[in-house]
Amino acid sequence: MTDRYAVFGHPIAHSKSPQIHAAFARQTGQDMCYEAILAPLDGFAASVTRFIDAGGRGANVTVPFKEEAFRLASRLSPRARRAGAVNTLTFGSDGTLGDNTDGAGLVADLTRNLNYTLAGKRILLLGAGGAARGVVEPLLDQQPAALVIANRTVGRAEELAELFGGGIRACGFDAIDPAFDIVVNATAASLAGDLPPLSPQVFAADALAYDMMYGRDTPFLAFARGHGARAADGLGMLVEQAAEAFCLWRGVRPDTAPVIAALRT
Ligand code: NDP
Repeated sequence: MTDRYAVFGHPIAHSKSPQIHAAFARQTGQDMCYEAILAPLDGFAASVTRFIDAGGRGANVTVPFKEEAFRLASRLSPRARRAGAVNTLTFGSDGTLGDNTDGAGLVADLTRNLNYTLAGKRILLLGAGGAARGVVEPLLDQQPAALVIANRTVGRAEELAELFGGGIRACGFDAIDPAFDIVVNATAASLAGDLPPLSPQVFAADALAYDMMYGRDTPFLAFARGHGARAADGLGMLVEQAAEAFCLWRGVRPDTAPVIAALRT
């Protein structure tokens, strides 16, 4: 029987994950299918349970359910435990394993696809939700010179910084000290067509602006380009985090380059 996988989110219609996993499955000869499921905002756990009862083998989790998925998992990978957020679930007879592949996906896209070296750089991370939580540790592993987390709700940024001990500064958008080599937008502002209230001075000369949002140009990337920064969207991260999840479920690592190229066209 064909193995079933899915992505859960709200909204979900924009998701490219079904296309990506179908391409990985074709490329590696895996007998599986992958669908997008719109979970009600107050019904994520019930939707996942229905999917498991219908034979689901694993799932990805996107906005706004990553922290709920963390609580739902009966076991956690070390990186998911440290992140406090889960984007990949694996269902088995021994319960549900929660993992987080977002950070590995971001770092793979930056370092391999964009040839960007994070070591020694000043990094500004915007947002403190599920996506931001997943990328803090993998970014720190690259040994940047500094990592600052800025969020609309300052308390959430402080809470996230505290999870990783000293050395990370947390602040609101109005208290960001200039200037950063790379600014990563992990807020959901772009989903709503909004720009976080940033000073153009956050961008150092030759800065890279990275928006986790993908599929359309965003106010953040337009703002960054308008102030001299290079701009990159989150499509590569999306494909790389999917490859990490696929490898976890199926035991084979797909080649991401042709899938990114196909989605770009
Ligand atoms: P969450 O809902 O968990 O977190 C949302 C974050 O965005 C919070 O920090 C929230 O601040 C902030 N925020 C929301 N609206 C605004 C706004 N108008 N202005 C400023 N800040 C705002 O979402 P996720 O963390 O899961 O996802 C965030 C984004 O990252 C989404 O666009 C998602 O599509 C993208 N993403 C892309 C991935 C990829 O592979 N390319 C992977 C994962 C996510 P507050 O705490 O104040 O509410």
